[in-house]
Order: sequence, then structure tokens, then C-alpha cells
Amino acid sequence: MIVVMRANATEEQISHMTAQVEGLGLRAHVIVGAERTVIAAIGVKRDGTKESLAIGDGVADVVAISAPYKVASLEVKSERTIVEAGSLQVGGEQVGMIAGPCSVENETQIIDTARAIKKSGAHALRGGAFKPRTSPYSFQGMKEEGLQLLETARDATGLAIVTEVVATEDVELVARYADVLQVGARNMQNYRLLEAVGTTDRAVLLKRGPSATVDELLLAAEYILDRGNSRVILCERGIRTFEGHTRFTLPLATVSYLHHKTHLPVVVDPSHGTGHAYMVADMSAAAIAAGADGLIIEVHPDPENALSDGYQSLTFNSFEQLMIRCRKIADAVDRYL
Ligand code: PEP
Ligand code: MN
Repeated sequence: MIVVMRANATEEQISHMTAQVEGLGLRAHVIVGAERTVIAAIGVKRDGTKESLAIGDGVADVVAISAPYKVASLEVKSERTIVEAGSLQVGGEQVGMIAGPCSVENETQIIDTARAIKKSGAHALRGGAFKPRTSPYSFQGMKEEGLQLLETARDATGLAIVTEVVATEDVELVARYADVLQVGARNMQNYRLLEAVGTTDRAVLLKRGPSATVDELLLAAEYILDRGNSRVILCERGIRTFEGHTRFTLPLATVSYLHHKTHLPVVVDPSHGTGHAYMVADMSAAAIAAGADGLIIEVHPDPENALSDGYQSLTFNSFEQLMIRCRKIADAVDRYL
């Protein structure tokens, strides 16, 4: 249910209605828009809730939210959400470019990559310190040591850090180092983890599970939003299909669909989405043309010898070329990079 306040409603009226919503046993999410403020009232409603809220001072209307996800829905907030985290901005006119290795491997690797991607114009550095690997025998990441190296890279370049958290018990540790907490595809439906990142003050990049529908992605985002963290970035990273020529199938229609349903920004991951370095620039260009608010791309100083995902990682030079191409596409769709 949404309590729509009048355009001229006072701060007192808004806080009074927030208290009224909470008094009815519901959670209140106050969303301040350019034209008016709305209060999303989330939870199990008693009979008469709508009527009792409708007579409040400063209330223009009380309407039901038809989508299963509530706070994420465009019905609640018609203006796009811009998520800012240090040097990264996603959801505005700028296309946010996140780049870096799949895994943090050592100091030289991460610092050299941070410097190279920054020089090419990226806005944030990605790198996994905790890696969710399909095989328990694969490299699992440098853990806290990797987080410390990411911090060194931020100090050296000023780039915001995007890094994955794989377990609820690590959220506090990873949040100490990260500007953006990445929740990986395998964890999209780990609801305790979603709640835990929802209680931090860090932005969250939520990746779509390879077998999850887009509506399930939105409901997963809702877990984070409902805990009070409004800085959620959605990420399409490809899904599992019968197709074998790519690692996953990258559906760019997700971008249009999400922009039609939610105010949250949408980022595309063409590295995991294709699994082939040679396809990454083409899919990056296509994603920006389709309206993506950002990209997350794997870049490595020596892809052939990377400890994870080398086959889909770009060299510094190919990333530089990608940026040049993507700038032209961004310009053609009234964005910039
Ligand atoms: C990654 O970003 O390196 C990663 C593990 O991604 P995903 O969760 O999309 O597989
Ligand atoms: Mn990877």
C-alpha cells in the first residue's frame, strides 16, 4: 500500500503519517520524490487500514501496490534511483563502468589493473577476495588479505571498490573494505545474506541467479530494500539455457523489462554473460544501446595466467578499445561514460 502525500504536505504531516503506518504494525519506507513524497506501507494489513490512513492530514490518496515487489516497484517511485558509492555513480546520465579481475591475486596485479582501468576511464574497481567457485578445489580467493589489497588500490587510485561477499558471517568484514557489496549469482536467493547486506550502509550489486526469473531478482532486491538499504544495483549476468556457444545466455531484454518495472539501476555483466573475451566489447556496446546504467567487466594484466575466469577477461589494451567504442555508443543514446 502507498500513502501518497499532497505536494504541499509538511514535514510534520509526513512524520505523523510515518508513525501512523508503524502504529498499524507496518514498516514505513519514506520515498521523497521531486514532486511529492510517498510512504510505502509494507506488511500484513488489518481490515480498515486503507480507510484509516486515507483520512490523515496531508494525505492525497492511499493506493495498493499491485507488483509482488513493493519498494522496488516503479508504482512507488517513478523517478530513477541513482546509486552513488565513492567514485561510482549508476542510474544517472553517466554509464557506470566497473572493471577489474575476477579475483584479487597479488598486489602488483590489482594495483596495475586499478591504474590501467582508471586511465581508460573506469569508475570503480572490481575484484573478488572471497570467491564462490563451482569446484572446492579451485582458487577460493585471498580473503581478508585480498580486501586489504583492494584498499591499497583504492588509496592509490581513488576508485570505489566492488567486491563479493559470499556468507552472512563475512558481511561486517567485507563492508569494512568495500564501497559496493556484490551478492553473486549463486547467492541471489540466500535470503539471510540479502537481509544482512540490507542492514549495512554499503551499496549492493545484486546479480541475477542463472536460473532465476527477473521477477525473482526483483523480490531478492526487495529483501535488501526492506531492511532499509535503498542503494541497490541490479545486475544481469546471463542465464542457463540449452545454448552452448556461450558460457551463459545474456538476455539484454532484461534491461528494458527492469526499466519498465523498477526505479533501481541496471548493470550488465558481459564477461560472465558470454564467457568469451572476444564477445565482451560487442555485448557491452549492445547493453549500453539497450539502456544499461552500467557495466561490470573482467580485466586482467595477463588473462592467460589468471587464477580464475582468464578466458573471459580483457587485457588492458582491449579494455581501452572497449571504452573508446562504448563512449560513442553512450553518446548516441544521450549518456556519457
Ligand atoms: C564474479 O563476478 O566473478 C562472479 C563470480 O560472478 P557471478 O556471481 O555472476 O557468477
Ligand atoms: Mn569471474
